Amino acid sequence: MNPFAQPSSTQSIPFLDLQAEYRALAKDGIESAILDSLRHAQYIHGPAVQRFEQNWANYCGTAEAVAMDSGTAALEIAMKALGIGPGDEVVLPAHTFIATAAAVTLCGARPIFVDANSVHWQMDIALIEKAITAHTRAIVAVHLYGQPSNLAALQDLCDARRLVLIEDAAQAQGACFRETRVGSFGKVGCFSFYPAKNLGAFGDAGAITTNDSELANRMRRLCNHGRTTKYEHSEVGENLRMDEIQGVVLDFKLPYLEKWNSRRREIAELYREQLRGLTLFVPEIVPETVPVHHLFPVATPRRDELARYLAEHDIQTGIHYPLPLHLQPAFASFGHQRGDMPVAEWIGKEELSLPIGPFMTDEQAQRVCEVVLDFFRDR
Ligand SMILES: *Cc1c(COP(=O)(O)O)cnc(C)c1O
Repeated sequence: MNPFAQPSSTQSIPFLDLQAEYRALAKDGIESAILDSLRHAQYIHGPAVQRFEQNWANYCGTAEAVAMDSGTAALEIAMKALGIGPGDEVVLPAHTFIATAAAVTLCGARPIFVDANSVHWQMDIALIEKAITAHTRAIVAVHLYGQPSNLAALQDLCDARRLVLIEDAAQAQGACFRETRVGSFGKVGCFSFYPAKNLGAFGDAGAITTNDSELANRMRRLCNHGRTTKYEHSEVGENLRMDEIQGVVLDFKLPYLEKWNSRRREIAELYREQLRGLTLFVPEIVPETVPVHHLFPVATPRRDELARYLAEHDIQTGIHYPLPLHLQPAFASFGHQRGDMPVAEWIGKEELSLPIGPFMTDEQAQRVCEVVLDFFRDR
């Protein structure tokens, strides 16, 4: 199959068109940038990773960025560097991707789940206070779907209770709260550059942003065998470094991010306009934020039926996420039950993610709306 060929059916709408993105980047020369770097054969700690760290820190408005080999590694290393370990508790949303909680467990600490808010689906800040104990060390704000949380309220809460604010900004590259980019509010901001994220590598990659240079140095050591020099290791670390080839890709793609995020906002606006008035729930935007619409979630009790109907019309959808963390088998030992987190459980049952991406055309978005409207009209 020729990957440069246009899709044969113009009717078929992918969930996210990574091939269209690749065609645009190839036209602009990303392949020769990658080849140049391969010819220099500096696969680890090469100049592109360092350049990207600097450019990513500048973009986010932080003093430092530390490159990692995934978003999960970013969360784990950030928590380890903050000294979170056995006996500690970390408060986070029940409605998020599992990596947010897995990182806590990987540090030997315990994730404490908080239900979602039913209006905007981010963690319900009013419920956090009840989840805090003498063992709590940190709160993780997850900017799920590219929607920033209310970072001022979370920071106030952290200050009052002497807790560390950690941002999981894996889905929210470039999103803003009060005109300031996410990743610059918490003590650390953790990013994933998984290919399907708004800024994605050609494989796995991640980064941590911070204004604390000493903490940044510790995180650099922890993801690089605990090294202080080539042959001296001040503590036991891991090998979770970003590959040079991903540094090349990310540094090449970063200048496109603003334009791509604006395009996502246009598609989201179109969806909101056209789907208004249906018995279809669309989560509200948190005040004072500029979201980047990593996903476009909606909810209906007829979710599975709607997904099937869209698939029959060659429109791909996704579900984020069908099973909240407190009901995951991985956390069965916590003893949670159905009914403990009613909003997260409702979202799990009824959420459907419509296609969205920077290369989606107005015609494609219109087509998605038409089919959704037909679905509700027909039955
Ligand atoms: C993608 C994602 C992660 C994990 O990132 P990886 O790069 O896949 O390890 C963590 N948290 C959230 C909310 C994510 O969406």
